[in-house]
Amino acid sequence: MYKDHPIKGKLPILQVTNLVKCYGGLIATDHANLEVHTGSIHALIGPNGAGKTTLIQQISGALSPEHGAIFFDGVDITVLPAFMRVRYGLARTYQITSIFKKLSVVDNIALPVMSISGGGFNLWSSARNDEARYQRSREIASRVGLGNRLDSIAGALSHGEQRLVELGIALATEPKLLLLDEPMAGLGSGESERMLELLRALTPSLSILLVEHDMDAVFRLADTISVLVFGKVIASGSAQQIKENPDVIKAYLGDGNEEIH
Ligand code: ATP
Repeated sequence: MYKDHPIKGKLPILQVTNLVKCYGGLIATDHANLEVHTGSIHALIGPNGAGKTTLIQQISGALSPEHGAIFFDGVDITVLPAFMRVRYGLARTYQITSIFKKLSVVDNIALPVMSISGGGFNLWSSARNDEARYQRSREIASRVGLGNRLDSIAGALSHGEQRLVELGIALATEPKLLLLDEPMAGLGSGESERMLELLRALTPSLSILLVEHDMDAVFRLADTISVLVFGKVIASGSAQQIKENPDVIKAYLGDGNEEIH
């Protein structure tokens, strides 16, 4: 299945097996299987309502599966609470921008830096009281392209820059795997390009699993693409393999789309 993958042979950072989640009578993920290779960018695509967000939420720990298992970096995390998964190195950003809008860029990033280094959250003392953590927060801000915005109030930034703050917050938890829910959503073309380059630069030192509707971005960015339809992963492979897969083409045609761009 992954025979063309450039880093084949390494253990997967994430293995999801037979994950089932129901909302009443509706099966949102139906024995879903997924493997994310260490150091790769893996995109999860599928028609609206296919179960992508539900699958990501089970991986992050926001939702509990009724059946199945999730292994992260060789550890069974199926029943671990979300905050423990973050400690193991699983970070998530959200579709809805979720930053402290009244704090500066560097203070937003400093909160998880303090938390991960045992300092706990303290909204009332500035990160600048701790030079080492402040320095680390500055480095992360620079890594996401916000080195010249350290003191800007997060809420005053453009939507694209706020998404970068969000990414910086996730990176501050020192993740091995980043879960991204629609990182391109709401970005202009210049901002999308910037995000694309940034995500590419983050690998292979960490792995990325993203849900994204922007097919152009998915095909340019992802090493591996998995397609979820009615809660099942019907195909995984390279962009070319996915574009040519008859089941995938049928699923998208069935959703009213004329083609997978
Ligand atoms: P989209 O691409 O539109 O964001 P998705 O692939 O992320 O969709 P989900 O949001 O995971 O799909 O939803 C999967 C199915 O579960 C859909 O039919 C949706 O209506 C349903 N669903 C999602 N959340 C709930 C909920 N809290 N209660 C009941 N049904 C839900």
